[in-house]
Amino acid sequence: MSSEEELVSLFKSVGLAENKTNDIIKNKKVSNTLSYILTEELKVQGPIEEKKLSLLHSLALESKNSDEPIKNRSVVSQKILDGELKTNLQVSEGFKYIVNHEEIDIKDFDKNCGVGVDLSAEDIKGELRKYFEANKEDILAKRYSGVPKLLGEAKKIPSLKWATPSLFKPIIDELALEYLGPKDERDVVKKEKKKAKKQPTKNNETKPEVERSMFSEGFLGELHKPGENPQAYPELMKEHLEATKGEVWTRFPPEPNGYLHIGHSKAIMVNFGYAKFHNGKCYLRFDDTNPEAEEAKYFESIKDMIDWLGFKPWKITYSSDYFDTLYELAEELIKRGKAYVCHCTAEEVKLQRGLKEDGTLGGERFASPHRDRSIEENLTEFRKMRDGHYEVGKATLRMKQDIDSPSPQMWDLVAYRVLNTPHHRTGDKWKIYPTYDFTHCLVDSIENISHSLCTTEFRLSRESYEWLCDALHVYRPAQREYGRLNITGTVLSKRKIAKLVDLKIVRGWDDPRLYTLEAIRRRGVPPGAILLFINTLGVTTSVTNIQEIRLESSIRNYLDQTTPRLMMILEPILIEVDNVAEDYEEVIEMPYKPGDDAKFGIRKLKFTKYNYIDRQDYRDEFDKEYRRLAPGQPVGLMRVPFNVSVKEVIRNGDKIEKIIVNYDNNKEEYKKPKTFIQWIGKDDVLKIKEIRIQNRLFKSENPSAHPQGYLQDINENSEEIVRGGIIEKLSFEEIKSKSPMNVEIAGSEFNIKEKYGPQTVRFQALRIGYFCMDKDSGDDVVLNRIVTLKEDSSKN
Ligand code: ATP
Ligand code: MG
Repeated sequence: MSSEEELVSLFKSVGLAENKTNDIIKNKKVSNTLSYILTEELKVQGPIEEKKLSLLHSLALESKNSDEPIKNRSVVSQKILDGELKTNLQVSEGFKYIVNHEEIDIKDFDKNCGVGVDLSAEDIKGELRKYFEANKEDILAKRYSGVPKLLGEAKKIPSLKWATPSLFKPIIDELALEYLGPKDERDVVKKEKKKAKKQPTKNNETKPEVERSMFSEGFLGELHKPGENPQAYPELMKEHLEATKGEVWTRFPPEPNGYLHIGHSKAIMVNFGYAKFHNGKCYLRFDDTNPEAEEAKYFESIKDMIDWLGFKPWKITYSSDYFDTLYELAEELIKRGKAYVCHCTAEEVKLQRGLKEDGTLGGERFASPHRDRSIEENLTEFRKMRDGHYEVGKATLRMKQDIDSPSPQMWDLVAYRVLNTPHHRTGDKWKIYPTYDFTHCLVDSIENISHSLCTTEFRLSRESYEWLCDALHVYRPAQREYGRLNITGTVLSKRKIAKLVDLKIVRGWDDPRLYTLEAIRRRGVPPGAILLFINTLGVTTSVTNIQEIRLESSIRNYLDQTTPRLMMILEPILIEVDNVAEDYEEVIEMPYKPGDDAKFGIRKLKFTKYNYIDRQDYRDEFDKEYRRLAPGQPVGLMRVPFNVSVKEVIRNGDKIEKIIVNYDNNKEEYKKPKTFIQWIGKDDVLKIKEIRIQNRLFKSENPSAHPQGYLQDINENSEEIVRGGIIEKLSFEEIKSKSPMNVEIAGSEFNIKEKYGPQTVRFQALRIGYFCMDKDSGDDVVLNRIVTLKEDSSKN
């Protein structure tokens, strides 16, 4: 037995780190055993490598229940010292061996402990690759969620028994990347929501699985609870919680300077949805501090879009509601010595911020010459700004932050600037307007926002946001940043869309080929489809880039479940049934959506002597591939009991005027046709003024990267217009009168009740695509194609 001091000095002499030593000596038995191994078994003099010390420590741990020296243990300890036993597993096998064997056969010992088996990283990779190949299907299916388990599995692979385990992880990661590609939204970690689990019900059915929710998982799932956001002045939290009663309060703060786009639908869902999920409240706050860019139509459109997406603002507010309060807070900031009026030009301010000759930042920073004015002088100057003594650009109120901070958001940001523009809400009351940096955090504070959620480009602003709240000693809301949603293959920027509109390349801001929300609505995309899509993407802190086809496939899936089917013919030709009477009528029942009669119902169509089919469904000749109507090849008309076969084709020049057919209504001779085609009875024809077949607006996935500019990337065939098409009249009218049908998706949390609009008249035109009515319809019918029926046919 050695004293603690002796142990410490021994361990130190062999090179054991101090913290490890302290740990080990806490356990008397283990430290005595280790001491015995070092001094008696190995007779060490001087330092040993750290790795070996750690293995010797493991050996001591293995022997801990025995105070007696263990026979033959020195075989193990010596092999550790000699570098033959390299891993904990080998040491543990070695220890087992000596305990279980009276006599030691060194060869047998080595074999049992994997001595001399040297697996390089390459060898391990080779073995792991075999494992990946053998389990490829499973690995691809589970993707990154299955990767952590692979480590455990790898350790069980017999050929890897003696490999160094610390090499496994980097190799597995490398192979995972090779097999799965980089992580994407499929790999967003989703915690199972309890209520989402399938629960057996009374009659032993399973309920449809509830959609996984972006609110309980990922970025939003991990947000703080109300009251948990840190404060510089904790007493302010009490007041805040009294105001909110501990609820989640959020806000959606658009600048009313343009139309919202698909990316904003994520912001809307994040803010309104998160509050709703927690039974809280969400403001719609128009961030109207820039009167030059604002227009009434944008306010209306923004409200409309939020409503369309199924959300209801708790209150609608405007940053301008708080102009008086904000002004007082600005004076207060001056009084606290934390703001000053500056007369520097924009150029001078840039230099102060370290602008170098080459135009980049990073040079030396220095203070504005006005930074150290007295409070009185600043107050006087600020009031002069307010009272119109300064022209635009001649004076700003700047926050006195920290120019030595590494963050540009701390380099004395502008709080107020002179702008001689009337404001649509406050008229010409103000000649100065607060900036985003001054306004946003303070209005969040005034409105008692518990979670101020914005996109990651504001990450650096968080510091100035908190600085200002603290400087004014007001409640500090928590700004948290999530990743933007972008659609590739299009442009979203206001400036770029404005150009497309001005050049009449598109029909306006709501042209169905664009991705503004107005456009998406006009195109006929159901709002529920957007929400479901965003929900499946989940929210993280990284930007989500989505190809148009991914969004489209999700829309298609949604429409498949929620729309009735109609027969529409793009290029009608008349067929006259020769062998029936002039007034022949056969009533044909056809479900609006086969298999879903309860929801969609059944309609009655009349097969008569005269009917229309599509020109594309007839050919003069047929071959194996061609299954539709041709002389010698009868065809079925959908749901009509017997086939029709060609008798005579009447032409006018090259053009087919009509086809005279026989109705093969002899039961005995019935033969199943190769296929069924669409038809519309002559008395049930509704002529469609225009069928607009919209395709991609751009040719490439990244129009903005085109060397000659995005306008050169325009697809000339982005809109084809079909005139002369027809549709079943009675059915179409029935669908129209029932719209908005608002068919629900079973189990979805996002079944929105759309209220009005031509776009709610949606249907699948059999074999052609999904369509909706366009606002240009007037008394006629104009249709937009929402999406194609299948993915590949949409590529052009
Ligand atoms: P853009 O620059 O694309 O025109 P914006 O940022 O100027 O948009 P705002 O009116 O300021 O538009 O946006 C209101 C809210 O919507 C902000 O909180 C903003 O972070 C968020 N937002 C804007 N674009 C996106 C996007 N692509 N994805 C998610 N959120 C977005
Ligand atoms: Mg903005």
